[in-house]
Amino acid sequence: MRYDDSPPPPESGSSVNPDRHWFTRRSTLVVGIAALAPACLAGWVLTQALSGAGPDANRPGSAPQPASLSTVPPGQRDAKPGATPSGSPSTEAGTPAAAPVPAAPVKGPLTGKTVVVDPGHNTGNFKHTDEIDQQVDIGTNRKECDTTGTTTNSGYMEAEFTMDVSKRLRAALEAQGAKVVLTHETGARAWGPCITERARIGNEANADAVVSVHADGVSAGNRGFHVILPAKVRSGAADTAKIVEPSRELGERIAGNFARTTGSAPANYLGGGTGLVVRDDLGGLNLSTRPKVFIECGNMRDAKDAAQLTSPEWRQKAAQGIADGIVGFLGG
Ligand code: ZN
Repeated sequence: MRYDDSPPPPESGSSVNPDRHWFTRRSTLVVGIAALAPACLAGWVLTQALSGAGPDANRPGSAPQPASLSTVPPGQRDAKPGATPSGSPSTEAGTPAAAPVPAAPVKGPLTGKTVVVDPGHNTGNFKHTDEIDQQVDIGTNRKECDTTGTTTNSGYMEAEFTMDVSKRLRAALEAQGAKVVLTHETGARAWGPCITERARIGNEANADAVVSVHADGVSAGNRGFHVILPAKVRSGAADTAKIVEPSRELGERIAGNFARTTGSAPANYLGGGTGLVVRDDLGGLNLSTRPKVFIECGNMRDAKDAAQLTSPEWRQKAAQGIADGIVGFLGG
């Protein structure tokens, strides 16, 4: 739609002009006002010049690119802090030139759903042991606010692993249309958050599903992944009665898809080979009011598991498996 009823400028009659039909339909009118046109046009051009808007400002397809867009290097327009290089389909290279349009939310099976992803621990926790050792109330008892997590024998930190997988998981979920909230971002805070706050973030987001990403740190020879489900607890602020069942379904979906995408086996040291374990001692589960599980993706202290956990390609498969499980739970 045009922005006013002013006659277009003289060059609008050229054969490439999309508004040509305007003349065709109004040729009689144009002829009728022909005598007035020079004066009108002069005024119109002056108005446009003073307002700073070019004559094509409202004409889709022929508008010059705004400086703010045309000066942004290709590939950075959609860049998002924390977005992973892999797994993010390129929309820049090889596509035909087109007028820039704002990125629309992806439509998919998770459209309208909110998923909270909780990267376990924090790389800064090692330097803030006093802070993370504060005791917090998890309903059933009191525990440390947060822990350092483990490392591989070569020093790759669990907190690095969990953040990397969480970002890959966020990208995979957003590609399915989900709104994704991370409980913390790289470098955004020196330590934590406390397990109580991690639970609260999922609750306050009214999350449809919450996944806390971890890797285990037990002796070598213990291998494989497991998903931790909330036990039925009711004590203090903890009341998991409403989330036990949906959390189990979420966990089963994730376990099955994680095994499929990574080729990893369920843990050989707990869970009886099911890849599922129920626990009543985790504040992040006890205090959750939304369907929630933890996943321990492997054992960082086992050389074979560590070789997988330190591989970006494997971590992408891990994130995809978790995402597929969430899609199965929420959208399948
Ligand atoms: Zn952990």
